[in-house]
Amino acid sequence: MTEKIRVRFAPAPTGFLHIGGARTALFNWLFARHEGGQFILRIEDTDESRSTRVAVDNILENLRWLGLDWDEGPEKGGPFGPYFQMKRLDIYRRYSQELLREEKAYFCYCSAEELAERRKEALRKEAQVGYHGRCRELSSQQKEDLERSGREKVVRLKTPREGVTQVNDLIRGKVEFENALLDDFVIMKSRGTPTFNFANVVDDHLMEISHVIRGDEHLSNTPRQILLYHALGFPLPSFGHLSMILGTDRSKLSKREGAISLDWYRQTGYLPQALVNCLSLLGWATSDSQELFSSVDEIISKFSLEGISKTAAIFDPKKLEWMNGEYIKRLQPAEITKLTKPYLEKANLLRGDEDEEWLKKVVVLEQDRIRTLSQIVEYGDFFFLPEIEYDEKAAKVLRKEGASALLQIYRDRLKDLEPFTIEKVEEVTRRIIAEEKIKGGELIHPARAALTGRTVGPSLFELMVLLGREMTFLRLDKAIKWKG
Ligand code: GLU
Repeated sequence: MTEKIRVRFAPAPTGFLHIGGARTALFNWLFARHEGGQFILRIEDTDESRSTRVAVDNILENLRWLGLDWDEGPEKGGPFGPYFQMKRLDIYRRYSQELLREEKAYFCYCSAEELAERRKEALRKEAQVGYHGRCRELSSQQKEDLERSGREKVVRLKTPREGVTQVNDLIRGKVEFENALLDDFVIMKSRGTPTFNFANVVDDHLMEISHVIRGDEHLSNTPRQILLYHALGFPLPSFGHLSMILGTDRSKLSKREGAISLDWYRQTGYLPQALVNCLSLLGWATSDSQELFSSVDEIISKFSLEGISKTAAIFDPKKLEWMNGEYIKRLQPAEITKLTKPYLEKANLLRGDEDEEWLKKVVVLEQDRIRTLSQIVEYGDFFFLPEIEYDEKAAKVLRKEGASALLQIYRDRLKDLEPFTIEKVEEVTRRIIAEEKIKGGELIHPARAALTGRTVGPSLFELMVLLGREMTFLRLDKAIKWKG
């Protein structure tokens, strides 16, 4: 019988979705889709003081934006719900009671101060700092007394003092942990809520998760979780820990780079398909190191756990920007126009009466140059502004000797040009260059500076026609008179 593949993304809603979390979600999703399995979304909100609804909404919204649809989870439901851990407290309590009954776990009455004191002492003696197990050995009389005193209590798992716990990781291979270093950790807190390790194990079992694929910051939790699986009599799932994501300088991702929320990428005009492409390569590669994929379906079809590497992945924002540019180039005219319009609106560049066909042509003319959708404003603003400023380089070009005189000739010849088409404009331009015996740039450069305020941009003839005869005339005229 082939194994039923069920994987999950289990974020704690204590912050917004960022590059690291999105990569974990994506790898699980790709694996599920490749294998024809199920992708489950579970919200691990037991850290009540830090979990927020805003963060939950942010995570759901960004997963949806990336196209990572879940088969079970919030807003969708499913046979293994609820999918919010705070709605599953009864379940954890039941399992905790079972462990207590079987004496695989025990109540611990030590106060935070006592624990801190003992920790200090252990550090002084250079001994182990983990829980020493005082309450593991309490007599029934002592327990009764402590109960009666009304002290707060937690539930701890009895862990073996000797031997090793081995994690057979799909990505990292065999990793061994000394049991002596794993103390009797807490599984239920005094308020009756479970700890991360406990809830995570109970849910992964009950939700029939076959593969636990997550960031390697959780590798050190895995031996504890394995001890819990054994204590609860649950079969182990497969584990796969994804390598860390580093910045280009090989240090932890800075706020600017990956630790920022996906919102920023969405708002800046990154395309979800480009982000998916980029994230998929953070620790995974095809055998021929393919960089760009034709579609997410191609990534799904090629994705495999064998292609995941255990060495740290590097997130390079520049590469993502390049990739995004490549995806922008693939967009159909109507699509890129629709996607860039909100940025033009936000920058107050649209009056609202623009002709759709004209707008489409403007956007398409800039399409090959913009690497994020928001760059349409930076690159294309001169099409919309009634007045333009010259940047430093453009000003320099306009100040060159003879520039103004050539622009005057140009302006006069363009004034009555009929029809005002790309071909005709180009013809006139070439003719002036030949007649004046000048190099092409001597006319084209000041003309571009006059019309756009910059020295680089799309084809001069195309942009001139899109600006229209009247605007072209006005801008040439202004540049001729300019006394920079
Ligand atoms: N709630 C944990 C986290 O956000 C989940 C870890 C796991 O996937 O098991 O890191």
